[in-house]
Amino acid sequence: MNPARRDTVPRPPAIGVDGTPASSFAIEDCPLEAADSQATELAALLQTAQTLTATLHVPAVLEAIADQALALIGAQRCAVFELDPLDARLKARAARGMPPSQAFWPTRLGPGAAGSAAVRPQVIFSPDVESQPLPMDDEPGPEAGATRREVVREPGYRAILGAPLASRETVLGAVCLYWDQPHAYDAREVRLLTSLAQYAAIAIENARLYADIAEQRREAELLAEITRDLASSLDLPVVLRKIIEYAKECCGSDMAFIAPYDRVRQVATIVASVGTRTDVYIGVGIRPGTGIGGKVLETRQPFVTSDYLNDPRLSHDYHPLAEQEGFVANMAVPLLRDGEILGVLWVVNRSPRPFTARHQAVVTKLADQAAIAIDHSRLYREASDQAQRMRVVAELGRVLVSTLDESRVMELVVTQAHETLGMLDIAIWLQEAAGGLLRLVAGRGQFSGPLIQRAEPMDPDEGVVGRALAERRPVWTSDVLQDSRIRLRSASRRWIEEIGGRAILAVPLIREHVLGALVAYRPTGARFADHEVEYLSVFANQVAAALENARLYDESQRARADLQGKNAELDTFVYSVSHDLKAPLVTIQGMAGLLLEEYRSQLPEEAARYLGRIQANAQQMEQLILDLLALSRIGREARAATAVSLADVVDDVVADLAGPIRERAIQLVRGELPTIWGVRTQVEQVMGNLVGNAVKYLGDTSQGWVEVGAVDRGAFVECSIRDNGIGIDPAYHERIFEVFQRLKDVEVEGTGVGLAIVKRIVQASGGRIWVESAKGQGATFHFTWPKGPASEVQT
Ligand code: ADP
Repeated sequence: MNPARRDTVPRPPAIGVDGTPASSFAIEDCPLEAADSQATELAALLQTAQTLTATLHVPAVLEAIADQALALIGAQRCAVFELDPLDARLKARAARGMPPSQAFWPTRLGPGAAGSAAVRPQVIFSPDVESQPLPMDDEPGPEAGATRREVVREPGYRAILGAPLASRETVLGAVCLYWDQPHAYDAREVRLLTSLAQYAAIAIENARLYADIAEQRREAELLAEITRDLASSLDLPVVLRKIIEYAKECCGSDMAFIAPYDRVRQVATIVASVGTRTDVYIGVGIRPGTGIGGKVLETRQPFVTSDYLNDPRLSHDYHPLAEQEGFVANMAVPLLRDGEILGVLWVVNRSPRPFTARHQAVVTKLADQAAIAIDHSRLYREASDQAQRMRVVAELGRVLVSTLDESRVMELVVTQAHETLGMLDIAIWLQEAAGGLLRLVAGRGQFSGPLIQRAEPMDPDEGVVGRALAERRPVWTSDVLQDSRIRLRSASRRWIEEIGGRAILAVPLIREHVLGALVAYRPTGARFADHEVEYLSVFANQVAAALENARLYDESQRARADLQGKNAELDTFVYSVSHDLKAPLVTIQGMAGLLLEEYRSQLPEEAARYLGRIQANAQQMEQLILDLLALSRIGREARAATAVSLADVVDDVVADLAGPIRERAIQLVRGELPTIWGVRTQVEQVMGNLVGNAVKYLGDTSQGWVEVGAVDRGAFVECSIRDNGIGIDPAYHERIFEVFQRLKDVEVEGTGVGLAIVKRIVQASGGRIWVESAKGQGATFHFTWPKGPASEVQT
């Protein structure tokens, strides 16, 4: 601004006490000294302007105003006041020539030189306060009892000149000059003070603007710093602590707190505080609706109060803590992320110094950062929890597969689920049979433990379990006794009341049948998170599979034992019948032979033929009985296994078949055959039957051949007997191994027991047998047989 121009502007009106028309105080009435040279005045003002704008620090500007006022006008004392917008009081920031007890005394707007100059806002003066008193207040000062009126009566305040520091419409403060003696003002002094005040106001505004910009820059830097910290740290407590330190710094508050919110437990827990005298706040849980934090949890809106303890909108839940720490002004903002509330951040003052919109904006930004940090850490935790859970599930799967004992399965499951789900209370309820009662069979935890003793069987449609089974999906409630969806008999209600833990989640165990439910318990009122329901469902799937396996295994074991018993019985029966049949058969054969030998000549031709038929059939029957005896003996084989040369066995078999082989000119090829492990007579039976059948079922070809070979199959040998005979329709590939099953393709002797014997022997050795063939295409029988004793066959 150009001071020269300022000089040409009409002099600002000066007014006297209480705005009375200028009489004895008015400038006009003062004897004016001859004007100094304008050049000197301008130079002085220029100097003032330069000094005032040399700094951008508000306190320094105020100090400079005091110095410049004294230098320009030459009073003995000076005080510069700043208007504090928060309490509308004038606070002396700089003083010259007076004791601090008098200078730094907050002044209301209105009384006193500063108060009246600022409120009007105009220059006010009194050339002699004894004859022309200024409006003074009678409030005692902050120190000893003196009032301002009394202070002004003391030496040093005889003449007073006050000017407002105002910029446009805004009053920023006032500057006052005091003389020891009555002082007649001249126009020059008023002019100088007015100009000074104008420069001063501009300088203060500039400095404030600068401070504002610096603060904004600092905020921006802080936010950038936090963002950087956030990106580089996954340590949530560290990040949250930093955030509240920043919040405290940005608002210049005395304290700050932060509490992440647990949606499941519905409580925000204070995890960090700064500026407090104690750390008793750590771990304090804030429920929605309680105190200022609870208000924010409930409304998701920031809440500001300048008097926490007396604010009628707030509950008194935390008053003891707040009183101890001296909470006065308090601002709480929500930590929001995608509309979800993740926590609360507070800044608190021990004085009524309120929080401004500006503070709220900064703290909201910080709260956003905190929400991001919490969300990230939650995601990270969830991901690692998930990975951990999957590891557990996989491990559980592995263990469960190896266990076929139902009660062991259940113990494993409840223990694992309890430990890996953060000590979640876990139990298993099983249904006795389709539509049967539900029984608690295993449990781990605070509620499930006692439940095992106390829980009574429930109806199939009763309780959370009944509901989950009916809906065939997970069902949960935070209080089973209050939930209208859930049916409970009064007897069941009684023991549930006794145990507590009425927040219940039930996940049905379903495979082909409904087996029961995997159940989690929590203290009444608590909730279950989606990921818990999901995880327990995965668990439940595994449990259901394991339970079903255990049951199937149980059933198959029972069936096997049953079958073994029946087979043994049958073998004994077959053995005794065959045995008993043998004696009468021998008699029939003997008698028929005797008749033929001794009465041959006396018998008519036809009778002799009949006797021949009797003999042939008796022989056939004898073979049958021998075969049946062999079959029944396999289960009771008592002879020890040894190493058996397959080549020797085949050679013996071929030697026995030498007759038909030669007669029909059958080509017999034996490959390299190894040594195997078994009972030699059994191996002979197998080879005898298979090679015998190959020769027997060649049909009427004149170029029949049979080939015996073997390949190594690790612990086993796979033996193959191949022929180019009549072959077998694939429809009968299974059937031919059953007792008495014969195909009617050719008229060849046989009992239909041979392959049944072979199959039983092969299976008893641990091997298997099958056939590859088509009608008219020859047949290849394969069987596997262990190379060594059972202990070496484990691979
Ligand atoms: P059997 O030879 O006493 O009739 P088996 O149990 O040894 O009884 O054989 C059952 C049936 O399998 C035979 O009746 C025959 O129809 C068929 N069979 C067995 N081996 C062969 C083969 N190598 N070629 C064609 N058919 C065969």
